[in-house]
Amino acid sequence: MNISYGKQFISNEDINEVIKSLTSDFLTQGPKVTEFESKFAEYIGSKFAVAVSNGTAALHLCAMALNVKEGVNVITTPITFAASANCVRYCGGNVFFCDINPETFLIDTEKLKQLIASKPKGFFSGIIPVDFAGLAINLEEIKSIADENELWIIEDACHAPGGYFKDSKGVTQLCGNSQFADLAIFSFHPVKHIATGEGGMITTNDKELFEKLVLLRTHGITKNENLLSKNDGGWYYEMQELGFNYRIPDILCALGISQLKRANEGLIRRREIARKYFDAFKNHRVIKVQPIELHVGHAFHLFIIQVSNRRELYDYLKSKNIFAQVHYIPVHTMPYYKGLGYKDGDFPIAENYYRNCLSIPMYPSLSNNDQEMVIKTILDFYGN
Ligand SMILES: *Cc1c(COP(=O)(O)O)cnc(C)c1O
Repeated sequence: MNISYGKQFISNEDINEVIKSLTSDFLTQGPKVTEFESKFAEYIGSKFAVAVSNGTAALHLCAMALNVKEGVNVITTPITFAASANCVRYCGGNVFFCDINPETFLIDTEKLKQLIASKPKGFFSGIIPVDFAGLAINLEEIKSIADENELWIIEDACHAPGGYFKDSKGVTQLCGNSQFADLAIFSFHPVKHIATGEGGMITTNDKELFEKLVLLRTHGITKNENLLSKNDGGWYYEMQELGFNYRIPDILCALGISQLKRANEGLIRRREIARKYFDAFKNHRVIKVQPIELHVGHAFHLFIIQVSNRRELYDYLKSKNIFAQVHYIPVHTMPYYKGLGYKDGDFPIAENYYRNCLSIPMYPSLSNNDQEMVIKTILDFYGN
């Protein structure tokens, strides 16, 4: 049997909900879409949610809604999935990377301030921080930097539904609740916390942005009488903006609603698994794990270890049918971004992190036995 780094879990109830949806009147935009949106918004603690076809589409629509275009400069982290940066390029904007903090693997706020200060006032328009691996970035801090420099924030919370940080008043701030960000996005790709196959969500507290996103999600077309410039009859609609078809089918929303019911349970299990890994590796002479203090509020999309002989360990685990993974190859070292002028050595902390990191199996349905086997195999590799 193979053990991979991440895996979805589909229950019988999930299957039944999908079958019900398949035999209903709606396959694409029906009642399940709005139900999923409102339940997800409630789970995350935001006012509004817009369900879309995938996380990348969510990022693209956010960038559009915030008017990213040619000449607009946006900051993100090199340690993320490429889509966090690509959404800026889709709209013709320029991507600037900011190196990471070596402990948290998140954007380094001191470096962020330096980057912003190195350019004339008004040079940057926005920032896309990522709750990498499920660790909530302190958005209160990011927001104060953003406000000083009139930047918007899109929180890429794909790794962190249910994750949180404590703000300066001690209040729990859930990832994606949009308390400090203008917009936040999630993905329902099978390895993420909530799986719909393909799927994504945007959360916000801003009604205007919400309405814009709803329009852009479906070609920029509206039938809403309050928004139409005239009314030629019941059939009449208007295309008011150049949008896309980024809709998510009702079928998948039925699956999403059912998955969402188990989201909290899954989160608890992920934290349990993380605790066990931490205890197994915390005093190891080669393996490095993040400090336990960082576990507070961590949503553990990934459990990352850092080792010097990563390639050998990866191959060894693979030979034992354990499929670890690397998250991520720094985005600026991708040939496409090198073509835009980035080069190796530009973000040394991110590159050093990449050389040593390995994501080991982390998903709620990972059994205790399988986890113990993973731990034993890793320890065996180091001869203890
Ligand atoms: C998965 C992911 C995305 C993209 O989501 P898709 O649904 O696969 O398009 C974007 N950002 C991060 C950080 C991700 O992990």
